[in-house]
Amino acid sequence: MIKEAMYIKSLTDLKDKPDVLPQILLLGRSNVGKSSFINSLTNRKNLARVSKTPGKTLLLNFYLINQNFYLVDAPGYGYARRSKSLKDDFIIMIEKFLLDNQDLLFVCLLIDFKVGPTKDDLNTYQFLRQLGREVIVVATKKDKIPKTKQFKQEKLIKGMLSNPEIFIAISNVTKENIDKVETLFLSRIDE
Ligand code: GDP
Repeated sequence: MIKEAMYIKSLTDLKDKPDVLPQILLLGRSNVGKSSFINSLTNRKNLARVSKTPGKTLLLNFYLINQNFYLVDAPGYGYARRSKSLKDDFIIMIEKFLLDNQDLLFVCLLIDFKVGPTKDDLNTYQFLRQLGREVIVVATKKDKIPKTKQFKQEKLIKGMLSNPEIFIAISNVTKENIDKVETLFLSRIDE
C-alpha cells in the first residue's frame, strides 16, 4: 500500500536530482488528469496541485513514496500554450532525463480514455519506445464513457498504440482501478 507520500523538490536542473532511489516518471498532456492521478494514488487531496495553468512551469516534481521510490511528475505537454523556445527546453529536459538515468524504472504515460491518444500522445509514446523505455499506459477519466461502451473504447485505444504491454483505464472520480495501478507500481519497485 502507499502509506506515505511527500513532496521533496522541483528540479529545473537535472544535476540536482535527489538521492538514489527508483523512479517512475509520469508523462501526459496538460489536463489529462495527472495531478488528480497523483492525488488518487497517494490518497491525498492536494499533494499535486490540481488546476494550475497548463504547462506553465518546466519543473520535474519529485514525490517520495513510502520512503523507497520517487514518483516524478513532468510538466504536461500542452505545447500550444508554450513559446517555441520553451517547447524545445521541455523536450531537451525530458530527453536528458530519459537518456541518462539509471534510476528510472519505467514511464507511466497518461492518456484521456474519452479523448483517446492525441497526436502529441502518439508521438510521445513512439519516442519513448524508440528510446527503449518501458511504458505503462494509464487512461484517465474512464467514468466519462458509459460502461456499455468502455470495452470498445479500450480496444480502439490499444489498437492506436499497437497494443501496449500494460494498459490500465482508471477514474480519479470513482477511483476505479487506482488499486490496480498501485499494486503494479509497488510490485515493480520490489522486484
Ligand atoms: P493535469 O493538468 O493533467 O494535472 O490535470 P488535472 O488533474 O488538473 O485534471 C484536469 C481536469 O480533469 C480537472 O477538472 C479534473 O477534475 C478532471 N479530471 C481528472 N481526472 C478525472 C477523471 O478520472 N474523471 C473525470 N471525470 N474528470 C477528471
